Amino acid sequence: MTDIISALAECLGDQHVILGADITNRATSYWRPEPTQTLALLKPRSTDEVSQILALCHAHNQPVVVQGGLTGCVDGAISTDQEVIISLERMNKIESIDPIGGTATVEAGVILEVLHSTLADEGLMFPLDLGARGSCTIGGNISTNAGGINVLRYGMMRDLVLGLEAVLADGTVISSMNQMIKNNAGYDIKQLFIGSEGTLGVVTRAVVKIHPRPTSKNSAMVAVQDFDAVTGFLQYLRGALGGTLSAFEVMWGNYFYAVTEPGWHRSPMQRDHPFYIMIETEGSDPETDTSRFNDTLERAFETEIISDAVIPKSEAERKSLWDIRENFEAILEKQPYYLYDVSLPIKDMPEYVSRVHTALHEQFTDAACYVLGHVADGNLHLFLCPGEPGNWHESCDQVVYGPLESFNGSISAEHGIGTEKISWLGISRSEPEIALMRQLKTTMDPTKILGAERVIPRT
Ligand SMILES: Cc1cc2nc3c(=O)[nH]c(=O)nc-3n(C[C@H](O)[C@H](O)[C@H](O)COP(=O)(O)OP(=O)(O)OC[C@H]3O[C@@H](n4cnc5c(N)ncnc54)[C@H](O)[C@@H]3O)c2cc1C
Repeated sequence: MTDIISALAECLGDQHVILGADITNRATSYWRPEPTQTLALLKPRSTDEVSQILALCHAHNQPVVVQGGLTGCVDGAISTDQEVIISLERMNKIESIDPIGGTATVEAGVILEVLHSTLADEGLMFPLDLGARGSCTIGGNISTNAGGINVLRYGMMRDLVLGLEAVLADGTVISSMNQMIKNNAGYDIKQLFIGSEGTLGVVTRAVVKIHPRPTSKNSAMVAVQDFDAVTGFLQYLRGALGGTLSAFEVMWGNYFYAVTEPGWHRSPMQRDHPFYIMIETEGSDPETDTSRFNDTLERAFETEIISDAVIPKSEAERKSLWDIRENFEAILEKQPYYLYDVSLPIKDMPEYVSRVHTALHEQFTDAACYVLGHVADGNLHLFLCPGEPGNWHESCDQVVYGPLESFNGSISAEHGIGTEKISWLGISRSEPEIALMRQLKTTMDPTKILGAERVIPRT
């Protein structure tokens, strides 16, 4: 055992420093089944233990990677065999819920879905929601500034965090557990840790905003004939449904077709429409909300904004409609595939997608590009499948990011940079912005032990 591992074992107890075969049993991440590589996996139980770990690692110049639920899409949580992992899995307590103040205070390892169900039992809700809800953690959501399906109504994670506690690379604890919406006392330090993907500190606890649980939820899947109808329908819903629209998830026709192939999801309508949209509203008056929702859809049908619609009659039917949007196993079978997460002005989306298709087919004759996305917040996800065995990651990156620059788009709407997109950061951030990121990193982590070689490109 090396000096640093012995010191860590002394601090945490042997049973919380995982080594050898106990690590290789763990998959690298949701996306990668191969075994985890690391020097040691550490499972602290408190902020104080995280602080002790980091003080030791700082003193020994030992690189560290933080892990939450391992659902991140850009490989930021994946360690090398020279890094130690801090896993927040034992820090999974919901400490308190304050319905009057509208806050929940949680440890960073709390699974998002556990927070949802605990709050639901008390007639409350936390609005962040995404397909990985059963595994991802609040700490991971904070560190990636997660988005998901309710952003158009409630904002991203950055809008949902009131306070947090984080440990800097040298072990210093920054406790900024603010509970108020208003607090302009100096810099808003928590924002440094939100979206910085574990490179500036380890988030250990947080205060998040919660709301009364809506008593009505109305959902539908609709089909439309072109992208103008997608945006027209969005504008129409915003006007007709006021602030109750909480989700507007668009699927391009070939995505819908692929995930409803025999053996995958059952299709609730014809499979050859150009676009499908999953919409949802949340409100507090079940009778009025439902009749307004149904009338709104009926008018959209009569005025030919939409060409087909399915309204689920039960929670099970609603879930199976959402499954078409959220469960894309059928695409993941088409190896190799590459997942992208870009944002750009909504009006430019059809032209951008068309340029991606052209560039892809110029290189790969049997390729496919499946597009879906949150759209209302400018976010598209693309699965590029070159249709040929081999590693085509770089070529596909070029296909997706090449045309993005001319639309002033972002290479990451919500997944972050991690290691995967590091060489492309310059497309979405200027040199002075990247230089300031480097300065912040040097100030907060002078020995660069935290999430090294992630997010910020080398000089
Ligand atoms: C099926 C599926 C659907 C998804 N849908 C969405 C979506 O709609 N919107 C979206 O935004 N994302 C989505 N994601 C991506 C992913 O779920 C989010 O990025 C999520 O926030 C990651 O949380 P995690 O706990 O799994 O973090 P991890 O994957 O473990 O880590 C992600 C990053 O955060 C860092 N990190 C983790 N915990 C901490 C901590 N406590 N302190 C400091 N750094 C930390 C890690 O080092 C890493 O860089 C999806 C993923 C899957 C698999």
